[in-house]
Amino acid sequence: MEYQHILVAVDLTEECDPVIKRAKTIALANGAKVSLVHIVEPMAMAFGGDVPMDLSQLQQQQFDQAKERMERLYNKYPDIQRGDSHLVYGQPRQEIHQLAKDQTCDLIVVGSHGRHGLALLLGSTANDVLHGAPCDVLAVRLQKKEKE
Ligand code: AMP
Repeated sequence: MEYQHILVAVDLTEECDPVIKRAKTIALANGAKVSLVHIVEPMAMAFGGDVPMDLSQLQQQQFDQAKERMERLYNKYPDIQRGDSHLVYGQPRQEIHQLAKDQTCDLIVVGSHGRHGLALLLGSTANDVLHGAPCDVLAVRLQKKEKE
């Protein structure tokens, strides 16, 4: 079976490079299109929804910064069309699944830190995205940075 539309979830850190590169390799072999998605999590959500201050300005800064980083990715990977990238507010698992459905993606690619022990109990985005995914999910193992 050939993949036709690959959705790459990017956290906009330097770690998204190996994830995008793996998706591009698969896309090339399958003649598939690649779309990027980054989710900006509402700050109130991160603080448990009960914050006694106005977070709208901080939230806007967070969104603008994500937009700027997304722009850098377009420049770095010019074969990925701007129109094929998505910057959305929400909860990563929910938004990634919804977008994969809306855009009829047949593969979602995420990075995975291969956590174990306590860190695994706390969960990871890759784990979260896998559950209930509307299509195949590829978790690209991210290497730990060597200590200098
Ligand atoms: P984490 O489990 O948060 O360390 O992230 C692992 C992978 O999940 C990243 O390499 C991305 O593929 C994906 N991911 C994490 N956070 C986001 C986000 N806010 N938007 C899109 N993808 C994300």
